[in-house]
Amino acid sequence: MWHIGKLATEKRYKLKKRLKWISAALTALLGIFVILFVVRYKGESIIEKPIVIEQDSIVPLTLLYGIEIDSFEVIESKIKKNEFLANILLPHSIDYVTIDRLAKKSKSIFDVRKIAVGKKYTLLLSKDSSNRAQYFIYQINAIDYIIYDFTDSIDIQRKQKPVETQIKTASGAINSSLYQTLQEADANPYLAVKLADIFAWSIDFYRIQKGDEFKVIFEERFVDGESIGVGKIEAAEFKHFDRSFFAFGFDVDEKREYYDEEANSLRKAFLKSPLKFSRLSSRFTMRRFHPVQKRWKAHLGTDYAASRGTPIMATSDGVVIKAAYGRGNGNYVKLRHNSVYETQYLHMSKRNVKVGKQVRQGDVIGYVGSTGLATGPHVCYRFWKNGIQVDHLREDFPSAEPISPKIKATFILKRDSLQMDLKALKIGD
Ligand SMILES: [Zn+2]
Repeated sequence: MWHIGKLATEKRYKLKKRLKWISAALTALLGIFVILFVVRYKGESIIEKPIVIEQDSIVPLTLLYGIEIDSFEVIESKIKKNEFLANILLPHSIDYVTIDRLAKKSKSIFDVRKIAVGKKYTLLLSKDSSNRAQYFIYQINAIDYIIYDFTDSIDIQRKQKPVETQIKTASGAINSSLYQTLQEADANPYLAVKLADIFAWSIDFYRIQKGDEFKVIFEERFVDGESIGVGKIEAAEFKHFDRSFFAFGFDVDEKREYYDEEANSLRKAFLKSPLKFSRLSSRFTMRRFHPVQKRWKAHLGTDYAASRGTPIMATSDGVVIKAAYGRGNGNYVKLRHNSVYETQYLHMSKRNVKVGKQVRQGDVIGYVGSTGLATGPHVCYRFWKNGIQVDHLREDFPSAEPISPKIKATFILKRDSLQMDLKALKIGD
């Protein structure tokens, strides 16, 4: 105890000594400051009120791309045809050497060779007689931009404008196509593409008919108060042949998935059609007695007519087992999906894959044409189940992974609220 007590006393003594020293040093420093201040104060004949400085800092700054622009001359323009970095920067006292250095330094952030006609750019020039460019800002797209800063050495930064999201709705009855109906309803027709994607596994979009109805709740994205397009679809209802199909958006592991009202995934093992938008021109028939040829003739495929060059998608994941030209088939591709299913796509104008290639659902494997025995541009889609050709439109395919029980309760809550919102939407609003 005593030993510890002595140590503590010694420590306290040392601390006291140190404190004394520090306070002496501080007093000395303060003294020096006071002297300096007084000398300075006396030295200035006219001393402005310090308030002025404060007033200055209150004046709102004019910001553009996060840069205070009051001290610059601002030029806003668009890249013209045959206009390159040099054409823009040379007249503003940025020499070739600097431009070359900039191009090299920019490579890992943005390749300046990608500067494109029609894109917006901004020049900030010094207001003095040199009129030298201080900043060059290039708008890559509605959101992304690059700042080239010449104020010191070259500094390059890629930044993004803040995006504001608003929830919007659209609804209507189909007159001709979904695309056209949306256009007539003053809604973004790009919604049609998104809806076709979401419902690709449950609705035959080439068979939608007059009187079908849709309701959709979606995000619209804005930059600087201007719409830059449709974001995620939150929910949709599609009434087709008097049956309602629902899609509720739900993020699983940060990936947007869509589920029906019973929490089944809308993604099925196969796409309904190898084309996004098309017309079913001939259905699968096992046996049809041809009245002229007087013989049984089968059409073991489903024909989808579309204009030449329309991309043909793999209807499911698989591997290319045939990619060739045949007299009847024309250019065709055959895929093996698993031990049970194979699909084939005929009359292509061009094949886009080679034998052995692994493809994912939705990958473009070729383009619509009329090679082989075909009267017009279409794709003949053939489907094998356990080696036997079947009508894929009559097959009931399993859903993709169901929603996990862990997050199902959260989904149900979101579904209920979205379903109420859909209900509140009136057709033709
Ligand atoms: Zn056919």
